[in-house]
Amino acid sequence: MEMNSANVEAVVKQVLESMLDRKIPSPSAQPAAGQAVPKTAHVAMLTSLEHYDIREFPIPELGDGDILVKVEGCGICGTDAHEFKKDPFGLIPVALGHEGTGEIVRMGKNVKTDSAGKPLKVGDKVVTCMIFKDDPDIEMFDLNKKNIGGADVYGLLPDDDIHLNGWFSDYILVREGSSIFNVSDLDLDSRILIEPCAVLVHAVERAKTTGILRFNSRVAVQGCGPIGLICIAVLRTMGIENIVAVDGNQQRLDFAKKMGADRSVNFMEYKGIDALSGAVKEAFGGHLADFAFQCTGSPAAHSNIYKFIRNGGGLCELGFFINGGDATINPHFDLCSKEITLVGSWVYTLRDYATTFDFLKRAQAIGLPMKELITHKFPLEEINEAHQTNLAQKGLKIAIVNK
Ligand SMILES: [Zn+2]
Repeated sequence: MEMNSANVEAVVKQVLESMLDRKIPSPSAQPAAGQAVPKTAHVAMLTSLEHYDIREFPIPELGDGDILVKVEGCGICGTDAHEFKKDPFGLIPVALGHEGTGEIVRMGKNVKTDSAGKPLKVGDKVVTCMIFKDDPDIEMFDLNKKNIGGADVYGLLPDDDIHLNGWFSDYILVREGSSIFNVSDLDLDSRILIEPCAVLVHAVERAKTTGILRFNSRVAVQGCGPIGLICIAVLRTMGIENIVAVDGNQQRLDFAKKMGADRSVNFMEYKGIDALSGAVKEAFGGHLADFAFQCTGSPAAHSNIYKFIRNGGGLCELGFFINGGDATINPHFDLCSKEITLVGSWVYTLRDYATTFDFLKRAQAIGLPMKELITHKFPLEEINEAHQTNLAQKGLKIAIVNK
């Protein structure tokens, strides 16, 4: 038999159908049909505190504006850690995972481009951002005012009858109206880091609104978990070089230097805030910081950071993604008499996402070891162990990576 391309196609279809025990729709019946897709998806559902179950759900028929993505990987966020331990958003049972990325395997016939207008096709690598795309400057903050149910990102949605709502899974159904970006030009590790990096791109944009952050600013970054470390990287790609990292973990401080911090201060070595602020001042060569980023979730760290900042300086507080309790400051000494300009930052806008793709390329170009932020990779079946490793603070960014 002569194997022309039509024959090859027919044979492949037949073999796939026998493997999967189902009829593969022909390309005309299912426009833009991609690789063979199983009947069911595996979703890691957080079903009780500190416990995920891997559940199997049918993959539904796609609507004309829907996209089915085969998940390649997803980072574990601080927010996931909070959900895992305490469910502060009251979402259980929930399909978590919002730092995910994967490959388009099927698209509805109306899908032509991503949210930035870039063409989309089966096989493209994508990430999602927020679910509404009508305004690129819209913030999570706005969405929470306009919509019920809390955060409107995949991985923090209330469960529904489709269930394919989070990136801790092997397939996710991206519904019509969601924001999606074609990031085929970034490797898997970089794509997993997009979401946390967008948080920092946003925070630095917020910091810039004070008018205090400049090329030659002395900048203190307090907290060297993934958020603080990425903060340092974003500042470096902006050309800011005079950065002092503050943390209590020497390993993290050493990594902060690799990410571009000039000096580091280990607060474990100092007793009392005067000694600590003295150490920060010394690290800047006898000056206090012009600007500071507070990247921990510790109320005491918020209280302390004012002492690192010069009169007329600025502060961006971004450590409290959820309620971490009250912090005490002295309004006279810390704010008024020093004329500190303070901005808060939370999550990101849609536009910050597009900026983040370029940031990741620039960070790579100047040799920042971004990918070393991902210290552990677990398969989906070991998601409970992955979260425990994260809670034990054994690494930096922990990721679920599918085979
Ligand atoms: Zn996150």
